[in-house]
Amino acid sequence: MSHTIAIDGYSACGKSTLAKAMAKQLGYRYIDTGAMYRMVTLFFQRQSVDIEDEGAVAGALSGLEVDFVPGSNDALLNGENVEAEIRTLTVSRFVSPVAAIPAVRRAMVAQQRRMGADGSVVMDGRDIGTVVFPEADLKLFVTADLTIRTDRRLAELGASGKAPDRAAVAENLTERDRIDSTRADSPLKQAEDAIVLDNSALDLSAFIERGMALARA
Ligand code: C5P
Repeated sequence: MSHTIAIDGYSACGKSTLAKAMAKQLGYRYIDTGAMYRMVTLFFQRQSVDIEDEGAVAGALSGLEVDFVPGSNDALLNGENVEAEIRTLTVSRFVSPVAAIPAVRRAMVAQQRRMGADGSVVMDGRDIGTVVFPEADLKLFVTADLTIRTDRRLAELGASGKAPDRAAVAENLTERDRIDSTRADSPLKQAEDAIVLDNSALDLSAFIERGMALARA
């Protein structure tokens, strides 16, 4: 029998770290839906798509294939590994407006449902427990203080040698959370039956252990 674990929450709160670790321990497929919206954004930027133009958006979506490299889970856009490029602040600054376009959400949600129907998955994002898989076996909603989230994102960007300044990172997280929480179509919000995990005061292994204990329960 296949299982679905939905992990939602704010930007840079540790969702992906938790989802990856749980998928590995459980032997499930990990699907990073944020990476899917980031790939769409990168593609639109490269093609200079006017996001106000519905026809241009529909045309661009028909020429786009979003997938992951088996094993590494790196982001694959029309067969090209774009894992590093989709994490840059250039993409982070445009992703929330692109993800708010109804045609983009319809296409991504349909693909996420197909991917989840293929076998057991841990899927992380913003609307997995509310829209993509409202019947998920386990729903987690992850939170952490903005200061901590900013530190973590800075460390990640620093590790890739592209660290922008702290204020720019904090501003991007706040702005994305604002757009993600207020968009008309499937906004970021906690599912009624989600379990909240605040990891501000938890170290990584305690955080993952908390998630695994809930998955085993
Ligand atoms: O998870 P990550 O921070 O990489 O997601 C990037 C952006 O993609 C989010 O800020 C949000 O705008 C969008 N997103 C979304 N729905 C999801 C996952 C991500 O709208 N399920």
